[in-house]
This record gives sequence, structure tokens and C-alpha cells, in this order.
Amino acid sequence: MADAHKRAEKIAEREQQVPKVHRANYREAVSGRSRRAAIKAFCLECVCWQKEEVRLCTALACPLYPYRPYQSGSKQVDNRTGLGAGLKKSGPGASE
Ligand code: SF4
Repeated sequence: MADAHKRAEKIAEREQQVPKVHRANYREAVSGRSRRAAIKAFCLECVCWQKEEVRLCTALACPLYPYRPYQSGSKQVDNRTGLGAGLKKSGPGASE
């Protein structure tokens, strides 16, 4: 339980550094209920919470590159390999 309490404290601290517009996604990400939200939060944090920078990411070798959000006109799931299957989500947090 000490770890859970410590984690909750760390999450609360970190959330204060997240822009308000991205906090709901961050909470979804750290809940462990959505890989999609986790990837989105990770990418946004990687580029100082700038959506356009995620879209324009040039880190081709990054493991998250194929899954990053905000790719215009493309899907996050590679239909050839099936990678990313299971990342789709319905319900709260599924939009964007
Ligand atoms: S794909 Fe790009 S934005 Fe996302 S974590 Fe990797 S380097 Fe950062």
C-alpha cells in the first residue's frame, strides 16, 4: 500500500505540470485502463505538450513513432502487421 500511496502522490505532483487541456488524458493514462491514452500522454510530454510537434515528430526509430497521435490522415494501427491492435478504445477518452 505504501507504493500505491507514493504513486498517487507522484501522479498528483506531475499532473500539476500537465496543461489543463491534457489532464483528463493524463489521468486516463495513469489509470492503467488505456494504452492509447498512455501513448498520447507520453508523446505529448516528450514534446512539451505541443500536439503539432507530435504530428511532426522526426524520431523515426522511436518505438512509439507508429502509434503516436495526431498523425493526419492515417490510422494508428498498422493494418499490415496488426501492430497496435487493441489500442482502439470506446467510451470516455476515446475521442481526439
Ligand atoms: S514518437 Fe516522437 S513524440 Fe512520441 S515519444 Fe517518440 S519521439 Fe516522442
